[in-house]
Amino acid sequence: MKKHYDWLIVGAGYTGAIIAERLATQAGKTALVIDRRDHIAGNAYDRRNDAGVLYHQYGPHIFHTNSHAVADYLSAFTEWLPYEHRVLGMVDGRIIPIPFNLTSLEILFPKAEAERLAKILIEAYGIDQKVPILKMRENPVQGVRDLADFIYKNVFYGYTTKQWGLEPEQLSPSVTARVPVHISYDDRYFQDSFQNMPKEGYTKMFERILAQQGVSVSLNTDLADLGSEVSYDRLLYTGAIDEYFDYVLGELPYRSLDFNFQTYRQQRHQAVGQVNYPVSHDFTRITEMGHLTQEWSDVTTVAIEYPVAHVPGKTIPYYPIPRDENQELHNRYVALAEKDAANVLFAGRLGDYRYYNMDQAVGRALALFNKSIVA
Ligand SMILES: Cc1cc2nc3c(=O)[nH]c(=O)nc-3n(C[C@H](O)[C@H](O)[C@H](O)COP(=O)(O)OP(=O)(O)OC[C@H]3O[C@@H](n4cnc5c(N)ncnc54)[C@H](O)[C@@H]3O)c2cc1C
Repeated sequence: MKKHYDWLIVGAGYTGAIIAERLATQAGKTALVIDRRDHIAGNAYDRRNDAGVLYHQYGPHIFHTNSHAVADYLSAFTEWLPYEHRVLGMVDGRIIPIPFNLTSLEILFPKAEAERLAKILIEAYGIDQKVPILKMRENPVQGVRDLADFIYKNVFYGYTTKQWGLEPEQLSPSVTARVPVHISYDDRYFQDSFQNMPKEGYTKMFERILAQQGVSVSLNTDLADLGSEVSYDRLLYTGAIDEYFDYVLGELPYRSLDFNFQTYRQQRHQAVGQVNYPVSHDFTRITEMGHLTQEWSDVTTVAIEYPVAHVPGKTIPYYPIPRDENQELHNRYVALAEKDAANVLFAGRLGDYRYYNMDQAVGRALALFNKSIVA
């Protein structure tokens, strides 16, 4: 029998799930949410492995935000566990805090030299400041520039080239600015006012977001395979915009990842949630799930992360590659989408071709609903 919905939503990640919830609870609309994967929650999906460890299948996801509206919205669907992410990096044979901070300086340099370098940094920028590495490399003071070059070479360069397969200069400066140098002793990776993990995991939170009267979910369902038994008035597409248009303007480049999950018979494998390997090894980082979820048992699972080239149809398009030319191609797809904007909306990490953190994806979904759907 033919079934009609007000909305068809492609993708059960943050963007799709939240818009579906809003449509049902705030506008009294019906929505069918489809996902080609066999689960909800998009890339934030977590589940227990055979050893019983809760892990993030598509890579470690740490929730942090400065937005009260985003935190309040999600708090209706989950309780939280306080968690402040800390990252160490293997640099020059030593383990230092990442982002690079005054403690990193003290570990890598003899005491007097570390004091001298800290002094010139504080003179140049003040204490408790965050400075993007590319900006620091342009500082008029030679001593600051020398230190910046050292940090760039040992902390940023290797990690960025492994992560993206490109030189830092070939990418938007926003990439290296994401992890600025901290002129402080604060060793938290994020400084956001809200840093918590969903108490029972992300998938449980998504189950509650989607459990609304009027919302139906169909998994293992690709838009391309949706039968004629389903009809709808409007479509929200949170998949890749170039794929939707059959790549008519060309492929938008993505970076993909391979995760090697290892489970060890020990309570903890490393001192903190994440250890980066900016220079040595092919992988970029090892993340230990138990630190993030704060669960303890006799076994622990880590994710060893290998960046790889993305091959459409074969690998998962994880990260849009932030370069001007890619943005221009995306703009041309947006112009194409605008011709049919009354019927089809695009949003989310793949639809907008933008690196969104989870809180930004939530914020974008809430804003889209308020401005373009109910307005
Ligand atoms: C490795 C990695 C680590 C990350 N870590 C963090 C972190 O620590 N903190 C943080 O805040 N953010 C993190 N993020 C970002 C976070 O994953 C995103 O913000 C969030 O997933 C965006 O949600 P979305 O709904 O836009 O997209 P997605 O979660 O990608 O959901 C889109 C869904 O659409 C489905 N889909 C696509 N096309 C079709 C189709 N044609 N038919 C049916 N279904 C389709 C896909 O299967 C997918 O499930 C990370 C991202 C990655 C890749």
